[in-house]
Amino acid sequence: MSDFLIPAMQRLSPYVPGEQPQGKQYIKLNTNENPYPPSNRVLDALSREFISQLNLYSDPTALSLRHTIADQYGLSPENVFTANGSDEVLGFAFRAFCDASHPVTIPDISYGFYRVYAKLFETEAKQIPLNEDFTLPVDKFLHVNTTVAFANPNAPTGIALPLSDVEKIIASNQDHVVIVDEAYVDFGAESVLSLLPKHPNLLVVRTYSKAYSLAGARLGYAFGSPELISDLDRIRNSFHPYNINRLTMLAGIEAMLDRDYFDECIHKVTSERKRAMTVLRSLGFEVTDSQGNFLFAAHPALSGKAYYEGLKDRGILVRYWDEPRLYAHIRITVGTPEQMDALFTATKEIFAEV
Ligand SMILES: *Cc1c(COP(=O)(O)O)cnc(C)c1O
Repeated sequence: MSDFLIPAMQRLSPYVPGEQPQGKQYIKLNTNENPYPPSNRVLDALSREFISQLNLYSDPTALSLRHTIADQYGLSPENVFTANGSDEVLGFAFRAFCDASHPVTIPDISYGFYRVYAKLFETEAKQIPLNEDFTLPVDKFLHVNTTVAFANPNAPTGIALPLSDVEKIIASNQDHVVIVDEAYVDFGAESVLSLLPKHPNLLVVRTYSKAYSLAGARLGYAFGSPELISDLDRIRNSFHPYNINRLTMLAGIEAMLDRDYFDECIHKVTSERKRAMTVLRSLGFEVTDSQGNFLFAAHPALSGKAYYEGLKDRGILVRYWDEPRLYAHIRITVGTPEQMDALFTATKEIFAEV
């Protein structure tokens, strides 16, 4: 840190991304990427001819992309915001709706970036502890009188709140924006999107990184009332109007249009999730009923970190935490059947030594 950094920025606790090894080939089950490649429509669209247009700026309104997303969900482009990953959507949303006099309420165990953004924007984050079983205590999120942000399904637990509970939270906080991060909703949970017309304070955040196999393209989006979307655009146009590059914009359009491939990937991942849940439980793990493309598991005989290390020695990466409530836990991204078989084999080896 230099002596020049201003004090508020000295106090940040930056997000620490999961390991992204660039040398040794690991079986990567640590950052919830899709194990399948993007749609062929994406590969075919990114032609030499298309790439040769990179001398020109991208469309700062991302209109064709927003149109494509809106059409898919029966909405209008005025209801759709797009950004460089949903992390950027969340960043713009925190900038728009939170500051030193506008706190945010979040679960204590959830996506780590909410706390990071709260610090960056000098916002108090009121953290509500999840229940013992990692479900969200809905009553504690009612009438909180602050901006609210949570993921549904939650990360890293995978547990989804029923729509009726999400609606209670939105309806009881009418005077504040409620940000529902649906990064994993495509893998089977119920979306809150149908409530959009009824609730002008609802912002639904989505990503192409998980279900659409485009984590490396960096593309996220959000649905909200035209007023909320224009608030976000106000921030975006004061920071980075060309936030989505041409290649990613086209990739996002093509991936959204290829519904057959999307359905196929979702089917493969959710079937494998079910199989992996059964196998892990048979090996003595406690596993939540995850609605995401990952499993949240704990074994009574081994800490998350020890299991992580055992797997890493065998060429498999998963995610563990150094936080008191999560010592026992690991998060395993659902991979291909072959990758998961390798995980089960390694797991049996590790437990044979315990
Ligand atoms: C992965 C993830 C994101 C970030 O996604 P990007 O679009 O890759 O920035 C946001 N929220 C949750 C809960 C996630 O798991």
